[in-house]
Amino acid sequence: MKIVLLGPPGSGKGTQAHIICEKYSLPHISTGDIFRANISQGTELGKRAKEYMDQGSLVPDDLTISIVVDRLKQPDCEKGFVFDGFPRNLNQAKKLDKMVALDKAIMIHLDDEEIINRLSKRRMCKKCGNPTHLDWLVDGKCEKCGGEVYQRDDDAEATIKARLEKQKLPQDVIDFYKQKGIYEQITSTDTKEETFKLLDEILKKI
Ligand code: AMP
Repeated sequence: MKIVLLGPPGSGKGTQAHIICEKYSLPHISTGDIFRANISQGTELGKRAKEYMDQGSLVPDDLTISIVVDRLKQPDCEKGFVFDGFPRNLNQAKKLDKMVALDKAIMIHLDDEEIINRLSKRRMCKKCGNPTHLDWLVDGKCEKCGGEVYQRDDDAEATIKARLEKQKLPQDVIDFYKQKGIYEQITSTDTKEETFKLLDEILKKI
């Protein structure tokens, strides 16, 4: 199963990618997570990526595509994968297309107002990497593993607005996947379980 999850920040791509990867035993490839890991390790790549991420801008394609090329060489990608947060423009989509034959590109749609509401309450678990939400925490800790949570720097309200403005998925990416006959769209629901059911209807047919 080779899929990409598309959608605005906060649409639930990360949460759904975690659920899909657990159910189908697939690697979860999040370019955002790879950048954040590099930032916390203080690598050169992390330093370069951070400049863009702090402004809510996209990291340049040369950096982003090179981490994807490296990641796809890992043996765990042989039986499939779930991309989350990649591709974000047509150039990235075309480069990915040259490397692998995707089964599906699935858009998780969500209105802007709901995105701001969700992102400002999003928290990340330090232990399992699970994106979670202020309302889901149990005693202030991750509801899944009990780990400490933190707020991503780019989930501050001003950066959220910049990300929504600067990072709208271009229509040409959607058209590219429609032309290939692999595009699907669902609308994110209020619960991750319901949203997963919608996604799984698509995945079961692959
Ligand atoms: P995410 O965790 O997917 O929301 O990504 C966090 C940030 O990492 C984004 O706001 C971008 O600055 C950067 N980023 C992640 N994926 C990409 C990508 N495919 N292309 C360019 N920048 C990216």
